[in-house]
This record gives sequence, structure tokens and C-alpha cells, in this order.
Amino acid sequence: MREYLIALDEGTTSARSIIFDKKANIVAVSQKEFTQIYPRASWVEQDPMEIYASQYATLTEVIAKSGISPSEIAGIGITNQRETTIVWNKSTGEVIYNAIVWQCRRTADICNKLKADGYEQLIKDKTGLVLDAYFSATKITWILDNVAGARELAECGELLFGTVDTWLMWKLSGGEIFATDRTNASRTMLYNIHTGEWDEELLGLFKIPRSMLPEVRSSSEIYGHIDLFGERIAIGGVAGDQQAALFGQGCFNAGETKVTYGTGCFLLSHTGQTPKKSRYNLISTVCATQKDAPAEYALEGSVFVGGAVIQWLRDELKLIESSAESEICAQRVPDTQGVYVLPAFSGMGAPHWNMGARGMICGITRGTNRDHIIRAALESIAYQTEDVLYAMRGDLETDKLDIKADGGASANSLLMQFQSDISNTAITLPVCKEATALGAALLCGLSVGVYENRDEIKALLTPERVYIPSMDEQTRTEKLDGWKRTIGACKCF
Ligand code: ADP
Repeated sequence: MREYLIALDEGTTSARSIIFDKKANIVAVSQKEFTQIYPRASWVEQDPMEIYASQYATLTEVIAKSGISPSEIAGIGITNQRETTIVWNKSTGEVIYNAIVWQCRRTADICNKLKADGYEQLIKDKTGLVLDAYFSATKITWILDNVAGARELAECGELLFGTVDTWLMWKLSGGEIFATDRTNASRTMLYNIHTGEWDEELLGLFKIPRSMLPEVRSSSEIYGHIDLFGERIAIGGVAGDQQAALFGQGCFNAGETKVTYGTGCFLLSHTGQTPKKSRYNLISTVCATQKDAPAEYALEGSVFVGGAVIQWLRDELKLIESSAESEICAQRVPDTQGVYVLPAFSGMGAPHWNMGARGMICGITRGTNRDHIIRAALESIAYQTEDVLYAMRGDLETDKLDIKADGGASANSLLMQFQSDISNTAITLPVCKEATALGAALLCGLSVGVYENRDEIKALLTPERVYIPSMDEQTRTEKLDGWKRTIGACKCF
């Protein structure tokens, strides 16, 4: 019986492969970090060959480790860092430039020029995105304009573009599969989320030949097969990391919301079958859905510095030795005594979108000690998340938005309880913390017949713990007022 599923989880800093059994239990994991390249301040690149090699190495290793025969594997699901841009030569298979990573700011000027020329609203209406260097389109334009001979080759149909999912599938299939899924397509700024197609007007605006772009398919269908240890194995699921996590958390209906507490915090709230226009500076994005199913949409907001503030306490301030120690230290004090940390290390994301902001620690007194600052840093993750939740509640016109949490920092129960208190919301943690990889595996499981439908999947996703708010209204209001003053002070800085 083929009933194991493999998720290829290609993140920003490492490639992982995870084998799940039919009940959504993890059987084996293999992980490999790859190099981050910083050619200049605020430029970020990766080597596409290293991305592929790391991913392939973990794939073969995880099978060997698990002791499972390749003939028992039902299929592979892929999930990946979104927006990261790779351009390669169709005939030689060679990349013409490094992957330009989503974090890279090199195309900020291209975006500013488009804004000055009045294209912001058109782009937002068609793609649901804010005009920002984050997304792929301006990265492709940059490669075509800056790599010698690239534009001519592209115009002759010799170059291909892909986000990391497309690149991995093209490599794994020996050039047979050239495709992406809707969720990854929706992050390129070239895909019209209303028509479900590449948008000719945007391709013209960004000067990108149509022939470079992959076919857009659903997130759960058989893309093709690859040869692995003599077996033909289906690639049956593809989704960008945040949409995969939304699926892996079983958020299939309007109002269901997940927060992934990783390096940053990524919030997605399912909005049903129509895209919701945000009045609060959130992004409208496409959800992972099956073949022939109607499109589904979500509102998305990201906090740039989430768990990363804890790494900063550890690596730069040397206040703690491990991320987990942050909880022990924070528990030593009942509160922060009015101290707030604002970790705006690289500006602020949704809903503030303040690119020039810098971080602050404020409210300190002679009595402030290390534990207060650690606690304030942890609380800052929850306050920033609450700012996005506030925007989501506003857009969705609701007072209450319960959340499902995952990601590394969701292991911190002080943080989870504080989030529940400050947002006045219930927070559910699933048994499987690897919601992103699980989402990719489940999307594949649906297309290859391991699961019949989403109800069967939902029944597998059991909660492990639920946090219930226990803070009184007055304390919550006072704390939130202090946070608002901190944000205000940051704007004056
Ligand atoms: P990513 O997928 O973005 O690399 P992970 O989901 O692996 O991130 O989470 C790692 C992040 O979570 C790190 O920034 C780390 O500091 C933070 N983290 C991990 N454990 C804890 C903890 N117990 N308390 C607070 N933060 C934590």
C-alpha cells in the first residue's frame, strides 16, 4: 500500500524533507542549511544549484532514515519560500543569475518609480498586493536589465522564470515539469487573482516576455512523476509556505485564521471564495485549493521580526543562551514594569508599513532588569501580531478572531498566553507543529487518493492545547495603550 507522503519544505534558510504517515504523524525528518549571500547592504541572494542540491540530499536521506521502501510512498508535496526569483536557460538548464530572495530590497527604486507613475492602485486591484520589492516581478525585470544578453535571450524564448517550487520541479523532473501553483503565482505581482491567469497588462508594464512564465495549476493535482530509487513517484501538491501552513492547520472556511510564529510572524485569515479588499493595508492572497475547485482567498499580514527578536537577545545582547530560556527569564517577573521593546530592525510591516522605522526600548527605570527586557521582547511579538489581528478584525468586521498557532516560537507558553490575553482570543496549538510541511503533504494526499476529501483531513488535525484569555479588560487596555504610545514614539524618531 502506498500511504506515506513526503513534504519537501524549502524554506529561506534550509531545505527539509519530512515523511508523514496517513494519520499525519511525522515518521522521519532530514534538514540541510544552505548559504545566504549578501553581495551588498540589503541585497540577499542564494545559489539555485545549492537550493536544489540541499533539497535533493534531504529527500534521499529522509527515505533512507525512515526505513520505508520507495514503493510505499504515495507522493510528494512541495512547499517553499515564496517570491524568491530564479531565471535559467531553457536549453542549457543553467541559471543566469543567483536566486534573488524575497527579502532583497535592490528593486525598491523600480517600485518607487512605478508608484510615482501612478501604477500602485492598478497593481493592487489586479494582484491584491502592495507595490513592494518583496514580490517577484521587479526582481525578474532587474535580472533582464542587468545580466548581459538576458533580455535578448528572453525575447527569443530561451529563458525561463520560476519561483522555488517551479525550479525544484523542473530540476527533479529533468526539465519535464514547468509549472507553478496558484498560491506561488499570486506572489509574483504578474498574476491576476480575479481571472486566475498571468496578466498581459502587468507583463507589459514589467517588460517580461510571456514565454518565460510557467503554467499555473492548482495546489493539489498530479504535476508529473519523478524517478526515485527506481520508483516513479508523483508530485501531487504544491503551495507557498504560508498557504501550505493555512491548509495544514485545517483553515478551510471563512474566518479561520492561523499565525505562524517563526523568524517573522505570518498571519492568514481565510475569507471564502471572494477576495477581500483590505482597508487596513493587508494583502489579499490566494489559498491552496484542489483541481477544478473554485478559488479561495485569504487576508495576509506579516510581522518582519517575530522570533528573530529572541535570537537578537541571544546573539547580540547575550541576555540568554537559548530561545527557550526566554520563557524561564520572563516568568521571573510578573510584568515588564512598563517597559516596551519595539523590534523594528528593518522597518515595520503590516499594518504600519513604515520602512524607515528603527527599533526602540522604552519605559525603562532604575529598577528595570534583564528579565523585564526579555519579557518585553517576548511581549513585542504578541503586540505586533495583535496589530495585524486588529487590522484583520477591522477588515472582516468582526470583534472576535480565534487563531491557530504554529512555528518555533509557538512552543513558548508564556508568549501564547500573553497573546491570548492581549488579543482576547482563544489560541489552539495542533499536535503537529510542522503545519507548513504537513499542508504540502496533505495537498498531495488529496490528489493521489490517500484522502478522499477535506473533511477526512480535518478529522486528523487534532488540537494539543488551547489557550484561553484570562486578562481583565482594564489591564489589557492599559498595556495596549502603552504599546500604541511606543509605536507613536517610533514614528517621531
Ligand atoms: P523559521 O521557519 O522562520 O526558520 P521556526 O518556526 O523554526 O522559524 O522558529 C524559529 C524562531 O522561533 C527563531 O527565531 C527562535 O528564536 C524562535 N523560538 C524558538 N523557540 C522559542 C521559544 N521557546 N521562545 C521564543 N522563541 C522561540
